[in-house]
Amino acid sequence: MMEDELVLFQRQYSDEAACIELLHRLKWPAGFRCPRCDHNSAYTINTRRLPLYECSGCKHQTSLTSGTVMDKSKTPLNKWLCTMYLVAACKKRMNAVTLAELISVSYKTAWSMLGKIRRAISDMDCTILLSGKVEVKPAIYSLKLYQTVEKQQAERAVIVARSTSLADVPYYKIKFTSSKQEPRKLLTQEAEEEFLAAHVNENVNNLVIHRRPAFGLVDHSPLKQFAKAAFNWINVSFYGLPSSSAQPYLDEFCFRQNTKHMSPLHAMETLLNICLKQDQAMYQQQNNPYQQAV
Ligand SMILES: [Zn+2]
Repeated sequence: MMEDELVLFQRQYSDEAACIELLHRLKWPAGFRCPRCDHNSAYTINTRRLPLYECSGCKHQTSLTSGTVMDKSKTPLNKWLCTMYLVAACKKRMNAVTLAELISVSYKTAWSMLGKIRRAISDMDCTILLSGKVEVKPAIYSLKLYQTVEKQQAERAVIVARSTSLADVPYYKIKFTSSKQEPRKLLTQEAEEEFLAAHVNENVNNLVIHRRPAFGLVDHSPLKQFAKAAFNWINVSFYGLPSSSAQPYLDEFCFRQNTKHMSPLHAMETLLNICLKQDQAMYQQQNNPYQQAV
């Protein structure tokens, strides 16, 4: 089913003109805006692969991709959009090997594209503060590659949280903590404070903190189930990842969960919005991209 939708998507955005139109619509929904002087008219220069817009106020030149994950990339826009579609809509195994095959690019290019998209998701997520009803719980991330005596040492604490404020659609986060937190011990005050300061709105009206870490067979909490699904996805798709590099992957998994209520196309446009606005320090709660995408 997913592949049929992908074929439809590829057909719709097979030429660069259709991609340019979509990027233009999402980047400047109310028409061109100069990133330097905020002027609203520009001359379009069409001598390059992508149009260049020269501001008629200050002569600053900008393109649809400048300052975004696609900046200076030689990969055609339709391959970028297709990758975003796959990241947003593909629930199963989606790593650089699969992507390279699906969109006919080298493994290195596919790996770099996925990395840039993940970084954009992580940057955006760090600006979202959970509010409304928020639940927080520690869980244990363990590196499945080394199921040996050293397993215990490969474990690291993460904090899983869920908020039900964004129009009643749950929003999930899974974050490693940099505070001292033994994976199998109760959540420390230090780790709790670090997480709340970085990810939860200070005016949250309903905060539930479960200090006992999620592990073992008796814990059936939704937060534990969610963390388990995220770790499984990492183990199946990437054959396990060290905790030092797993954070963007966890953010990617959460992104898919957080856009699960959207159609694949809507989720893809949300991701494209995130990728387009990457360099703008404007992700405040009031212009949350999850509510912006058309
Ligand atoms: Zn200007």
